[in-house]
Amino acid sequence: MKIKIKKDDVVTVITGKYAGKSGKVLKVFPDTKKLIVEKINFVKRHTKPSQKVQQGGILEKEAPIAVSKVMLICNKCGKTTRVKIGSLPDGGHVRICKKCSEMIDEK
Ligand SMILES: [Zn+2]
Repeated sequence: MKIKIKKDDVVTVITGKYAGKSGKVLKVFPDTKKLIVEKINFVKRHTKPSQKVQQGGILEKEAPIAVSKVMLICNKCGKTTRVKIGSLPDGGHVRICKKCSEMIDEK
């Protein structure tokens, strides 16, 4: 199954520790079906001092979250939704919100 969420989409987390929180998609990993969402799924990473980083310490960074744990928020109706793929007369494809039937992608 193809991922229907793209970079810069806004998604809401539907399950887990961050349920109910929303954020912008920063990165999509199609191979593992995961996303990095802004301010969601922070993990602490311990870093050791190196030549680059003078001081070791704890770094907080977003970790990828499974696509199945989030839902897209439609940029037209503002609701969490699933999308269907519509065909355009020119042969292109566009994502369509199942709730309001508006095109999510700008042409
Ligand atoms: Zn909509």
